[in-house]
Amino acid sequence: MLSLALVLPCYNEEDVLPKTAASLVEVFNLLLRDKKISESSFILFVNDGSNDSSSDIIAELHNQNSFIKGLNLSSNVGHQKALLAGLHFVTDKCDAAISLDADLQDDVTVIGEMIENFVGGSDIVYAVRKSRKKDSVFKRGSAKIFYRFLKMMGVKTVYNHSDYRLMSNAVLKHLKEYNEVNVFLRGIVPLIGYKSSKVFYTREKRAAGKSKYPLNKMMLFALDGITSFSVRPLRLIFYVGCMSLLASIASFTYIMVSYFGGGNIAGWTSVMISLWFLGSLTLISLGIIGEYIGKIYTEVKHRPRYHIKSVVF
Ligand code: UDP
Ligand code: MG
Repeated sequence: MLSLALVLPCYNEEDVLPKTAASLVEVFNLLLRDKKISESSFILFVNDGSNDSSSDIIAELHNQNSFIKGLNLSSNVGHQKALLAGLHFVTDKCDAAISLDADLQDDVTVIGEMIENFVGGSDIVYAVRKSRKKDSVFKRGSAKIFYRFLKMMGVKTVYNHSDYRLMSNAVLKHLKEYNEVNVFLRGIVPLIGYKSSKVFYTREKRAAGKSKYPLNKMMLFALDGITSFSVRPLRLIFYVGCMSLLASIASFTYIMVSYFGGGNIAGWTSVMISLWFLGSLTLISLGIIGEYIGKIYTEVKHRPRYHIKSVVF
């Protein structure tokens, strides 16, 4: 029988943890009753260095239900790395793992369907959002831009899929082979390959508490996704350079014609405009290059991505 692990990263989620645990326990008991999952299945909460009572709540939940486990990271490392810590931890402890958010935005009733797909031969099952009607207009709009931009920049991701997915133990083992420090799971998982399938769900509103992804964090996340998976921005610099070379040839021709034609040479205005324009292009280009160099810098240091402080198992 299938041994399933649910992995939920949580950062300052004291408002929502008891609720989340209650609905997961309900789902778990149903799956156990129907013999869909084995007794060795468990739910792992990865406490991402919360400074509220999340870790106490997890310990308390473990006392009530021994299949609820916890992993306490020594500091806040962010959603992606916390999730990675959890996925590494459950590797070889289960047949398949499902990652989801701790705020109950991911509809837990499709877990059964994900398991069916796994049993049917899929090593990866992506949960894809049917609609975003319950999200705020802002979140919906920015998410759309996010996916479009990633695609434009050549990053292969599954449209409208976040980090709600099932992975078999074989895939989890391969995930361990990815050693990058800048973790963007949505980009990594499709690279692993294997047979994949999709299930569809409606994304709910956050059950309680506040989003930990304000606009600035979301923009950094998008930038991280692009610069970790695509060199297209670097190539873009080259194209822009070619175009500005063409423009300068055109303006050179114009200047020569007006010089020999006895007209006025180009005045102060055009000099200033081109000065500013080229200056800004240079700065933007340097900025993009800097972004990649910064990334190389953090990657070559190969620092650990998280530290596990304690385990509730
Ligand atoms: N999260 C985390 N570490 C962080 C920020 C968020 O583990 O530094 C967790 C958070 O507890 C939640 C999930 O990542 O379970 C998604 O975060 P959130 O719901 O705030 O993002 P949103 O759904 O608003 O994009
Ligand atoms: Mg959320």
